[in-house]
Amino acid sequence: MSSRRPLVAGNWKMHKTGPEAREFCAALAGLVGEDPAVDVAVCPPYTALEASADALAGAPIAVYAQNVHENEKGAHTGDISAAMILATGADGALVGHSERRAAGDTDAQIAIRVRNAIDAGLLVVLCCGESLETRQAGETEAWVTRQIRSALEHVQPADIARLVIAYEPIWAIGTGETASPAQAQEACAIVRRVATEKVDGEVLRVLYGGSVSPANAAELMSQHDVDGALVGGASLDPESFAAIVAVAG
Ligand code: PEP
Repeated sequence: MSSRRPLVAGNWKMHKTGPEAREFCAALAGLVGEDPAVDVAVCPPYTALEASADALAGAPIAVYAQNVHENEKGAHTGDISAAMILATGADGALVGHSERRAAGDTDAQIAIRVRNAIDAGLLVVLCCGESLETRQAGETEAWVTRQIRSALEHVQPADIARLVIAYEPIWAIGTGETASPAQAQEACAIVRRVATEKVDGEVLRVLYGGSVSPANAAELMSQHDVDGALVGGASLDPESFAAIVAVAG
């Protein structure tokens, strides 16, 4: 058992309108209560950030965006800046989710996003993880090492206060196939070891993501190097997300 306070974050992806987010957040706040044993966050789509932050004002549940552009402003149709995210009342962002990488976000962009988002005042949840082909080729460690070194290129030790890393094997995202607790532990330990080149690895929180559910969450999060979960599908229902929060503490 480490002294790191776990974080459970729910990535809603392209689900929920503003009014739906408001209803969800009110229900979640009631289920989570005023003093959860872990940090809790939801990651709504951009259009529901403000409604979520508003509904969660005063509740111990943070709001993170699902991505953030590296520039402050400019000709970037469809993107939003860190300042825009902060202005909604949200205070963090995912960076480098595999679905964003698949849509074209590059390693170089991700490294600058991590730097600039932290500078702007956001908490960053940097995502990494390998494909099934990479795992089957025995190249998971090399892949994750390269992703972390690249994404943390501009990171300094003091950034630890605003940095979390989520290990999310692509083959486990949205597939119902979860990494075994041993696989999650092994990969999260690699992430921590590589990140220690830049920040204090004893303080860094490393989450596991990939088909986490109320049924498998406790065992995954009991692993020494797994400090919580990034949850997709099972975060869309307040009861199932709150059940994962409950076992994380
Ligand atoms: C995710 O998208 O970050 C995720 C982990 O999704 P799921 O829990 O649905 O696999």
